[in-house]
Amino acid sequence: MMIDTEHPKKSKCNCPHADGKKIVCKHKIALFFTAFPKEADNYITEFEEYEREEEDREQERYDQIVKYVESLSKEELRMALINGLVEADESFSMPDKKLGSKVQILSLFSADLYRKGNWKI
Ligand SMILES: [Zn+2]
Repeated sequence: MMIDTEHPKKSKCNCPHADGKKIVCKHKIALFFTAFPKEADNYITEFEEYEREEEDREQERYDQIVKYVESLSKEELRMALINGLVEADESFSMPDKKLGSKVQILSLFSADLYRKGNWKI
């Protein structure tokens, strides 16, 4: 096993997954982080920072959406919900990473609106 820190894809490992291929397998990653524990720490710190920022962004997006929805009239709400449901329905046929959150946001909307009595089934 050999790791090339400049060109990670040129590293070599003889596990079945990476043997003879330009694949960065978990062994290469493990060896890299064993050889450079500080890099591992930096990576984890960066990742945690990214996760926190992502949470903030999600919260911000959610707040914006809630604000937008609250500014709509009942008729506009109806149209927005119909469009959203149609869009979510279309997305169901294509596996999409964003689908989960889309459907989640939609049901959050519905629950929120329903609770406020703005929207009745
Ligand atoms: Zn490997």
